[in-house]
Amino acid sequence: MKYKLAPEIRRQIRTLIKELKFTHIKPNQIHCIRSFDAKTRAYARIWGMSRLFNEVAGLKPNYIIEVINQRFEKLTPREKIKTLIHELMHIPKTFSGALLSHRGPHHEINDSIASVFYSHKLLSV
Ligand SMILES: [Zn+2]
Repeated sequence: MKYKLAPEIRRQIRTLIKELKFTHIKPNQIHCIRSFDAKTRAYARIWGMSRLFNEVAGLKPNYIIEVINQRFEKLTPREKIKTLIHELMHIPKTFSGALLSHRGPHHEINDSIASVFYSHKLLSV
């Protein structure tokens, strides 16, 4: 995979975490990259790590948010933010390194829920 670090995305992510009060997310343990040759239909995706790395090896959980450059850059600013919110919603309250699927017994991640967060953000700014 061809990629580079994306400090501008990381800054946006930090702002979103603060504004949306996603207090379970540790901003220092979120990293962001832009990828250039990914063969996926996604605009962005998030990489976690098994909680075993924490429990067995004592490593801090870290997440990487990857934006798929060619696809992400076609989005409007509003859609970009919604996409980043969507990725943050995959992080469980336990911040264990694991990822939530799109639909679970106690949660659902979809773009209309990301929109609610988005409009909430607009109200609080
Ligand atoms: Zn998703």
